[in-house]
Amino acid sequence: MNENLTNTKIVHLYGKSNSAKAYEIRDFLNRSVVAFKWIELNTLKDLKNAPHLKKEDAERLPIVELPDGTLLYKTNVEKVATHLGWISKPKHKEYDLSIYGAGPAGLSAAVYAASEGLRTVLIEKSAIGGQAGTSSLIENYMGFPNGIAGADLAERARQQAVKFGVEILMLREGVKAQFKNQQIHVNMADGEMMIANANICATGVEYRKLNLENEAKYLNKGVYYGAGASEAFLCEDKHIFIVGGGNSAGQAAMYFSKFAKKVSLIVRSGNLSESLSHYLLTRIEEKPNIEVLYNSEVSELIGENELKRIHIKRTQENTIEEYDTERLFICIGGIPNTEWAKDTDIIRDKSGYLMTGADLSNNGKFVDCWKLEREPFFLETSVPGSFAAGDVRHGSVKRVASSAGEGAMAVTFVHKYLENLHK
Ligand SMILES: Cc1cc2nc3c(=O)[nH]c(=O)nc-3n(C[C@H](O)[C@H](O)[C@H](O)COP(=O)(O)OP(=O)(O)OC[C@H]3O[C@@H](n4cnc5c(N)ncnc54)[C@H](O)[C@@H]3O)c2cc1C
Repeated sequence: MNENLTNTKIVHLYGKSNSAKAYEIRDFLNRSVVAFKWIELNTLKDLKNAPHLKKEDAERLPIVELPDGTLLYKTNVEKVATHLGWISKPKHKEYDLSIYGAGPAGLSAAVYAASEGLRTVLIEKSAIGGQAGTSSLIENYMGFPNGIAGADLAERARQQAVKFGVEILMLREGVKAQFKNQQIHVNMADGEMMIANANICATGVEYRKLNLENEAKYLNKGVYYGAGASEAFLCEDKHIFIVGGGNSAGQAAMYFSKFAKKVSLIVRSGNLSESLSHYLLTRIEEKPNIEVLYNSEVSELIGENELKRIHIKRTQENTIEEYDTERLFICIGGIPNTEWAKDTDIIRDKSGYLMTGADLSNNGKFVDCWKLEREPFFLETSVPGSFAAGDVRHGSVKRVASSAGEGAMAVTFVHKYLENLHK
């Protein structure tokens, strides 16, 4: 995505600078590798940048103009995806394999499953690529010595999966699962039922919230979960803040420092060496416009309709500092997306991660729910035929490579499971 694009054959997005809806569309287009131009229409005067729009259109923002000239008024992600032709109904009543989540684990599983002849459906509630899709540059994934933007990696995987015949259902979410007659029946958020002989849960994790007052009020209006690359060029000459001491926060700090006047990284602990990869730590230390605020926590969010200021508590000195800022990016670890499993026999650990393979044998509940003579396969949950791969799995490594590896491996166990089923 490039703000200098002038070609009318790309998507144009018009909106107010701090519109939450416009942010969601920008983020979605960016993660989906759709070239677009963002045009801010904050006042009627700004209409000079969009001469074909009418005065009354200023009340109908955000507006998306598709490459064929179609204008979508007061639009949202779902409408844009529908008009881009990305929303479809399931083609089949039943599948060999359903995969939930199109991050690295789900995409990799989809590529292997379809290439090995399984009738496969991949269901994604948001944008393709998962967490990896939000990374500005993945530098430690084998095969890309100069690094690759997460969204580009995901788009390549998507194309590969589609080439092998995977059916991808976008903006669909599995909300409740039932296992009966040796099949998984999943209630989708849109009311549909998805049935498959086996499934792989690759639903990853989501960023945790700070749990501060007003956090929801400023969501996507100054407070953002993650640090989407789509926002970086809007931070030009601004002082922005990123919360977190892990690789995702570190990568974001490096990327945003190319655009922002100053990037402050707010870190709870007193050092970064345990939580951040060495290569990132070295670069952050060398970057003059990045400062690290150690032993610090955001304690208050202040503004009217949008974020204007934050308070930071310096825990060692026990003092509060106030900073003006319109951009706070929260990149602090995750909560696994496993609510859908709560009424099933699938065993989760205390934090909600899915237990698999040998880890299950130490769990008291396992004896009650596992009825087979064989032990669960390595990535199999406590329900036969239901597998987990990637960040959502208890004990996983939380890397692109390991997630992609687990996705591929899970497919091997799906084959073994299906072979036994048909004996
Ligand atoms: C900013 C950032 C930078 C990173 N950089 C690196 C790096 O440089 N190198 C590295 O190795 N790792 C990096 N990581 C970590 C890496 O991206 C993750 O470990 C990896 O993406 C995990 O893959 P996954 O497929 O298990 O889960 P995720 O990537 O979390 O994908 C899960 C997907 O499931 C979808 N989903 C959730 N619930 C449902 C549901 N009910 N129904 C349907 N879909 C659902 C989500 O929308 C999401 O798309 C980074 C992470 C972040 C956030």
